[in-house]
Amino acid sequence: MNRPQVLDGVAIASEIKAEVGREVAELSSHGVRPGLAVILVGEVPASQIYVRSKVKTCGELGIYSEMLTPPESITTEEMLALVANLNARDDIDGILIQLPLPKHVDTKRLLEAVSPDKDVDGFHPVNAGRLQSGQPGLAPCTPAGIIEILRRSGLPIAGQNAVVVGRSDIVGKPAALMLLNESATVTVCHSKTRDLPAVTRSADILVAAIGRPGYVAADMVKPGVTLIDVGINRLTDAADVQRFFPGDAERAATFAKRRSVIVGDIDPAAFAVSGAYTPVPGGVGALTIAMLMHNTVKAAKLRRGLATGK
Ligand code: NDP
Repeated sequence: MNRPQVLDGVAIASEIKAEVGREVAELSSHGVRPGLAVILVGEVPASQIYVRSKVKTCGELGIYSEMLTPPESITTEEMLALVANLNARDDIDGILIQLPLPKHVDTKRLLEAVSPDKDVDGFHPVNAGRLQSGQPGLAPCTPAGIIEILRRSGLPIAGQNAVVVGRSDIVGKPAALMLLNESATVTVCHSKTRDLPAVTRSADILVAAIGRPGYVAADMVKPGVTLIDVGINRLTDAADVQRFFPGDAERAATFAKRRSVIVGDIDPAAFAVSGAYTPVPGGVGALTIAMLMHNTVKAAKLRRGLATGK
């Protein structure tokens, strides 16, 4: 059997960022500079890392960015006022509320308060509706990244049997809709699905967005399948590292240094029988920020009635 194609998310993300950079330069000739505001509440170290890299990428691409860092004690009403102010500003095209928010803040109310035209995360129900009805809008970054990986790797989507495992509002459902919009024949699975392996074995394209380390085993996939692994799971037990990555010296060294390694929702043993797969890390996750930048520029264009691609 041929060796599977590794779908390099890092390389595809660089390609997308370069394109976004060129669009930003073109917009500047019309006197427009896209702007992104990121709200980061409190001091969650992981969120701080994510937000810093988003702000840094904005700088690299010429996008204006602003970081708002209210204290953990901020109320829902105060957050709503911040969002209202950003909604009203013409220099801000995208508003991103870094999740998770403190428990006392009403996340749903806040996400719905963001203007749908500035909702660069694509979480607003209006954008979910636009996606469902095929209208131009802002799509969630992770599933949009999946489509970009498939398209830019020259893998066919139309007519393929696509199986999506997971039905969350931010990954599984929008991924299924986007694959459907690309004319795949789509099946969505979840925790109540009967005989999951029988369904996953029917997939030409299998998207795993479950949140369980290595859940999709090698005998659950058809040889030659395209595997898209969205999962990000941290292994902290040496036995698990050995089980998922037997004989992998690089992973063993990472584990020895950091006491953890990342694995997706697909057992790496399944990658070996696939036709193509996204590695973890370096696959789908690598595209999320690039798609956020893409959405910010798209929002800037849509708000001004300028032509936009997909
Ligand atoms: P959720 O927990 O919101 O959803 C998980 C889904 O998996 C649910 O629909 C659930 O079914 C389903 N599921 C759980 N157990 C099973 C099972 N045994 N068999 C079949 N289906 C099952 O997770 P998210 O969608 O937010 O995230 C999924 C994964 O993707 C996580 O690992 C997350 O870290 C990662 N992620 C990665 C991103 C990236 O940039 N690469 C971005 C976002 C998420 P049910 O609905 O019935 O409960």
